This record gives sequence, structure tokens and C-alpha cells, in this order.
Amino acid sequence: MKNIGILGGGQLGRMLLQSAVDYPVITHILENDPECPSAHLCHHFKEGDIRDFDTVYNFGKQLDVITIEIESVNVEALEKLEMEGVLVIPSTSVLKTIRDKVLQKQYYKSNNIQTADFIITSNKDELLKYEDFLPAVHKIGQGGYDGKGVQVLKSPADFELAFDGPSVLEKMVNIKREIAQIIAVAVTGEIAVYPPVEMVFDPQLNLLDFQLCPANISPATLLEVERLSMAVVKGFKSPGLFAVELFEDECGQIFVNETAPRV
Ligand code: ADP
Repeated sequence: MKNIGILGGGQLGRMLLQSAVDYPVITHILENDPECPSAHLCHHFKEGDIRDFDTVYNFGKQLDVITIEIESVNVEALEKLEMEGVLVIPSTSVLKTIRDKVLQKQYYKSNNIQTADFIITSNKDELLKYEDFLPAVHKIGQGGYDGKGVQVLKSPADFELAFDGPSVLEKMVNIKREIAQIIAVAVTGEIAVYPPVEMVFDPQLNLLDFQLCPANISPATLLEVERLSMAVVKGFKSPGLFAVELFEDECGQIFVNETAPRV
């Protein structure tokens, strides 16, 4: 039987374990908190820090397959495990691209995937040069989630709210709808595309309020959403389950916003 490990034991890890019971696999969880949602559903629970090289490496070397349920893990340890023959899903190179908004945007650009226009900024002062680019959205390269690390800049007066580190300055899109497409890539390269959903956010908290499934979009929009999502994952050349998040603007144009790995 295959040994499968998950870095992180939150609610997403728990969902993966719920599906894993249908398969002949032995499941392992690495997580700091022994009371986490996944702890009592896995075969083997290991208490430890998913950001620590030795902890992740020692956890992973006994496994056939290792995956993540959160992006803030020790990638260097995963890289070493991958070199030593452990199947890492998604691959460490994809994980490195996905968890950095700067690298992600560059990836879309170099693969001709439609995304909002952007400029890479490395510090706050640099923004003064880009007054003409406003209104825009400033996004920190690493460490942001659930809208933390995203700042709307409408006028130069907002520059003081900007991030003082590697970030993306992105043109404001006149969003009509936010859409998410779940897409699964098997080790064999087969791709499964699920019906896209529409995401409705709480404007203050920047957290998902409602998810409408299936999204109420035209057949032409559906095709475009699927086409762009396929282009995103084909370029990754990695197995995994991905959520491609997209915007539909008021003119009906579709832009890829970001891609997140899913368990
Ligand atoms: P996070 O990784 O924190 O979810 P996102 O890049 O998804 O960050 O941005 C959070 C939200 O900010 C999006 O769901 C969207 O509502 C808004 N947003 C992000 N980029 C733009 C943009 N270019 N134009 C307009 N709104 C945006």
C-alpha cells in the first residue's frame, strides 16, 4: 500500500482524508497542532513544523507521495524529496511559482495567458513613478492570503498604503464576476475540468460569502474560462488539483487572476 503524506492538518487536509478512505492508502499528517481537524482521521499523525527543513524531510522520506494543504511549507525539503524519488504533488517548481504573486504573473505573461496588465515593484518609493497606471491593485509577492496582502490604490495619496517589498502593481479590472475553475491533472497527464463556480465576496472582509454553482455564465464565457484554465495547468507540467481564479469584466473579457493549489 502506498504511503501518502499531507503537510498541514486543517480543514482541507481533512477533506482529502475523507476521500482517501475509499482507496487502499496509508495516510500521514504533519502539523503543529495535535488537535487539528485532520489529526484523528489519518493513520499516522506527526506533530511538527511544516516550515522546518529537517521536520519535513524526515516526515517525507518514508512516503511514496507527498502533498500540501497550505502553501507556506518548506519547499527546499520538498525539492530534496522530489530528487530522491518521492512524488511531490504539485511539483515543487509549480509550488514555487504559485506561492509568489510576482512569479505567477510573469508565468501568465510568458505563457500568453490573459491576465490584468501589471508592473513589478520592489519598494514603496518606486510607486511614485507609476501614477499614470492608477487605479490599480497592489499585491505583495509572498505571504498574502484572503485579501491580506492586497491593497487598492486609487490615487497617489494611497501610495502610503502600498507594500514595501517585492510586489505586483496590477491594473484595476472593472469586475462583473469572479469565477473559479477547479481543474485536476493526473500523473498520466489526463485533465478533468469541473463546472466553474461564481464567487461572491464580502466587500469589507474580503472573504468568500457565497459560492454559486454552477456559475451563471454564457456558453462563450464558459469556453473561455476552460481554455484559459487548461492553458494555466498545461504549462505547469505537473499533476495536482488547482483552482484557477478568473475575472469577467464589464465588457465580457476574461482574465486569470491567480491559481491556488488544492488538496
Ligand atoms: P488573495 O490571494 O488574497 O485572494 P487576490 O489576488 O485574489 O488575493 O485578490 C483579492 C480580491 O481583490 C479579489 O478577489 C478581487 O475581488 C480583488 N482584486 C484583485 N485583483 C484585482 C484587480 N486587478 N482589479 C480589481 N479587483 C481586484
